[in-house]
Amino acid sequence: MQQTFHECRSAYENCRIILTTKHNKAVAIHPAFKEILSAEVVTCEADTDQLGTFSGEVDREGTALECVRRKCELGMGLMSTMYGLASEGSFGPHPTIPFFPCDYEILYFCDHVRGFRLHESLLSEKTNYRTASVASIDDLERFAEKSQFPSHALIVRPNDWHDRTVIYKGIQSEVELHEAFRQCVNQSEDGKIWVETDMRAHMNPTRMAVIAELAVKLGRRLATECPSCNTPGWGIVRFEKGLQCEYCNLPTELVSEEIYGCVSCSFSERLERSDGVKSASQRYCAWCNP
Ligand SMILES: [Zn+2]
Ligand SMILES: [Zn+2]
Repeated sequence: MQQTFHECRSAYENCRIILTTKHNKAVAIHPAFKEILSAEVVTCEADTDQLGTFSGEVDREGTALECVRRKCELGMGLMSTMYGLASEGSFGPHPTIPFFPCDYEILYFCDHVRGFRLHESLLSEKTNYRTASVASIDDLERFAEKSQFPSHALIVRPNDWHDRTVIYKGIQSEVELHEAFRQCVNQSEDGKIWVETDMRAHMNPTRMAVIAELAVKLGRRLATECPSCNTPGWGIVRFEKGLQCEYCNLPTELVSEEIYGCVSCSFSERLERSDGVKSASQRYCAWCNP
């Protein structure tokens, strides 16, 4: 990976970081943390379903960030550890591209030795996330094909869902899929079944890859120390708007500066955009293009 990160000694070298997960996410997170931080990511298989499930048998309480924090604390408590990790994904329409599905992932880290918490997030269009209610096996087959089944698992339940114990999760074969269809269609008053992609990480290689990408982002941030107090976790904490219009120099709504901050002390730095963009096109200017 990036050699710059190997040159500085990691604050987490040989540290055990407890990852709370039922879904084998260490496969996605450990390589980045090993490579960038020389840390060991160790799994705590706590029952995180009590904090909510994707498939809706247990509703998730609070925001995704609150949920991932509780998950992290659950495992840290069980393992009596100083370093913890947890991840949480949300799936739905893209915030700016209508009808385009996306995966919003949060990776949360807690350091009880230095007394800070830090998370990084990633909004990715790389997802097979979809749901449908279907009445025929042919429609179900078409759904399965679009969802990269069987390398990516499916979840099937009756469309009218009175008895929440009737649900088939982690379906990975044609035989299971047909059986789930038969059972659920019989128990559904409207004769339809509900099918959705199984978004649990161990059932969804695409999601696992997005988590791996996010692990690199968080790993690099934890490899970066505050220039003032040397606490790890130095990185962008917010963006400043007001990039000047190329024509009239008035400020626009576009980002002009990246503000870097520390997780521990109040030291911060303002830097120009890292993508090198120095001015905004006239079309973003409220004066030139009202
Ligand atoms: Zn202008
Ligand atoms: Zn600092």
